[in-house]
Amino acid sequence: MPQLNYDVVIVGGGHNGLVAATYLAKAGKSVIILEANAEVGGATTSVRAFPEYDARLSRYAYLVSLLPDQIVSELGIEFETLSRTVSSYTPYSRGGKDLGLFIARQWDQETEDSFLQIDPSGAEWQAWQDFYNEIALFAQKIAPTMLKPLQTRSELKAMINMPDVWEYLMERPIGEEIEKRFKDDIVRGVILTDALVGTFASAFDFQANICFLYHLIGNGTGEWKVPRGGMGALVSELERVAVAAGVTIKVNSRVNTVTASATMATVELADGTEINSKYLLSNAAPQTLAKLRGEQAPKSLDGAQTKINILLKALPKLKSGIDPRLAFAGTFHANESFSIFESTFLEAKAGKLAQKLPIEMYCHTLTDPSILSPDLQAAGYQTLTLFGFHTPAALFEADNEGTKALALKAALASLNELLVEPIETVMAAVEVKSPLDIEGDVGLPRGNIFHKDLSFPFREDDDLPGWGVETDDPRIFICGAGAIRGGGVSGIPGHNAAMAVLAAMEIE
Ligand SMILES: Cc1cc2nc3c(=O)[nH]c(=O)nc-3n(C[C@H](O)[C@H](O)[C@H](O)COP(=O)(O)OP(=O)(O)OC[C@H]3O[C@@H](n4cnc5c(N)ncnc54)[C@H](O)[C@@H]3O)c2cc1C
Repeated sequence: MPQLNYDVVIVGGGHNGLVAATYLAKAGKSVIILEANAEVGGATTSVRAFPEYDARLSRYAYLVSLLPDQIVSELGIEFETLSRTVSSYTPYSRGGKDLGLFIARQWDQETEDSFLQIDPSGAEWQAWQDFYNEIALFAQKIAPTMLKPLQTRSELKAMINMPDVWEYLMERPIGEEIEKRFKDDIVRGVILTDALVGTFASAFDFQANICFLYHLIGNGTGEWKVPRGGMGALVSELERVAVAAGVTIKVNSRVNTVTASATMATVELADGTEINSKYLLSNAAPQTLAKLRGEQAPKSLDGAQTKINILLKALPKLKSGIDPRLAFAGTFHANESFSIFESTFLEAKAGKLAQKLPIEMYCHTLTDPSILSPDLQAAGYQTLTLFGFHTPAALFEADNEGTKALALKAALASLNELLVEPIETVMAAVEVKSPLDIEGDVGLPRGNIFHKDLSFPFREDDDLPGWGVETDDPRIFICGAGAIRGGGVSGIPGHNAAMAVLAAMEIE
């Protein structure tokens, strides 16, 4: 260890830690990142998951929406995200026919016809357009606030000035609004998906509202884009600019304890080394930070997703007859009607894994084949990124490997009933990550993909001003997903923690 005193120590080298470090180093501060794992990146990483195949898959996080363009340009990272022409495809069967709800990113005739098949009156597509137009306007207003000090609930509400939308997004369960405006169970389910990604909740829990909001406001458009080169491309760039700015990065350096006095913070590493700093940022989850400080961990929901990464020899054919290159280009929903989401949630809460999981998936390589070697590309290989819902950590406790096998079976059962031939006939390799694996691999407590329950992006009117990154100790800040406005691949809490520290240093 070359030096034992820094302006700022950052515990954890996830993407947010790298963002915070670079902002601070560019402002002339000495910064060290201490990362427990052998590589930085945390949940944003690409790996060669199957050694026999030269394919680098985004092992955990896979799509980008919340990363503000401002952070990309201020840090000077060369990182590109690609739009998908298809928004989603949801196969279903009705009246003995195999059909599908196809939604292009830009509304088109095919999308309209597809809605008319579900509801010939046209009311459902009109409701869809009205709903998402309202939300788009709301998103444009809220997105620029994410990189500024927190507004109060009243300030933000007044600034947005869309009281009806505020009411259904922030004050009433989102499930009520979806039920009120939409009639069809499948349409309702497609909308509800965004409220349940990584969130073990009913459509009528407020946690679903918050998850829904974060899925629709990224960069003011809510568009989820494909990271060119996979999620690891973001980390490589963040690491490059951090090192260029003078950040010291130490991997294989697990922090065991964190203490703070009136003048400094101290960390002790697993090997006994002590490092002092004026300020400490935790990229580790708030629950982890509490443990490192010898305090009670804050409560949070368990992670509830099973992430399944698949390498295919070819795309499977669908019973509905749609070209698979369209079906899998956007988000593919299976077994995700509103009522199935609710019943699966209740079953899982009662300790039972569903026989058929609600799943969503997409094919990264249809938009960006660069994650495959030229040989695999030439041979027609593709990847499928599958996210299984409502499989909470508790279900895996007694037998992680056995339950993973059941979860895989339940996820593929949902998919296979929509395919001409079972997916297994074209599957080259597969890996399954349970919430417990995600905790073991990258330290997300109980596999919660947002570290801790997401919070609305404001402070209550009587809360102290701040950036949403403060703790009860003025030397310690949260710079990871567990901060207010953290969660997801965004860099937002990294940026905000750096700003909070720079402001604190100025008044010292
Ligand atoms: C399966 C899955 C799919 C997801 N999909 C998406 C998606 O498509 N899009 C999206 O926007 N978000 C997605 N997310 C969420 C997103 O990945 C996370 O919210 C985000 O990456 C968190 O970033 P972070 O930098 O705050 O923390 P992390 O990535 O969790 O990094 C924290 C780092 O701290 C380190 N650490 C922890 N404790 C210590 C310690 N004691 N000492 C030293 N180091 C320590 C960890 O090893 C880790 O590297 C997904 C997450 C998962 C798990």
